[in-house]
Amino acid sequence: MSDPIDLLRQQVSDLHQELVRYNLVVWTAGNVSARVPGEDLMVIKPSGVPYDELSPGSMILCDLDGTVVEGDHAPSSDTAAHAYVYRHLPEVGGVVHTHSTYACAWAARGEAVPCVLTAMADEFGAEIPVGPFALIGDDSIGRGIVETLRGHRSPAVLMKSHGVFTIGKDARAAVKAAVMCEDVARTVHVSRQLGEPLPIAQADIDSLNFRYQNVYGQQPAR
Ligand SMILES: [Zn+2]
Repeated sequence: MSDPIDLLRQQVSDLHQELVRYNLVVWTAGNVSARVPGEDLMVIKPSGVPYDELSPGSMILCDLDGTVVEGDHAPSSDTAAHAYVYRHLPEVGGVVHTHSTYACAWAARGEAVPCVLTAMADEFGAEIPVGPFALIGDDSIGRGIVETLRGHRSPAVLMKSHGVFTIGKDARAAVKAAVMCEDVARTVHVSRQLGEPLPIAQADIDSLNFRYQNVYGQQPAR
């Protein structure tokens, strides 16, 4: 299985199970995609297939206009949004969409999650911003994601009255951002029940984010 597309099918199929494991999805909602490096192609979830029936072979290969290149099902109904992101943000290798509960509660209010925890400064480097209200069916969702996240440190956007889209250098990074987004949306919500969360100084957010993104974790050997 050395074909890069077969490897991505396996990865994207496996990552869908992480959405289930972290309670980010119900029924068939939510989806993960990955760009095929160096090609105008992506691998994405099929539409309407239950999570326990997803397999590497059921993943859909599409071009970056959302046209199916290889696959037995229609691709996810969010394929146009994923494709738009890949066309306009060349550094993005993975996209995730969920309707996870706490993040959606903020999205339903059209309110950004303020950066009031060090873990948020680490992962998001800023508030988690709100994107515009957009209907499915054309490029509006994709455009809203790109316009909100371009030049923003956050890899997650709360699309107003809808849900979460996250981006990453690969699909795994985008899934991680979706997991962390729900986690901080829940914690900041709970904090709000106690009173107003305390702001973190911008200089501290900057320094936490720089350290986490550049120093933290296992660095590759030089
Ligand atoms: Zn949705």
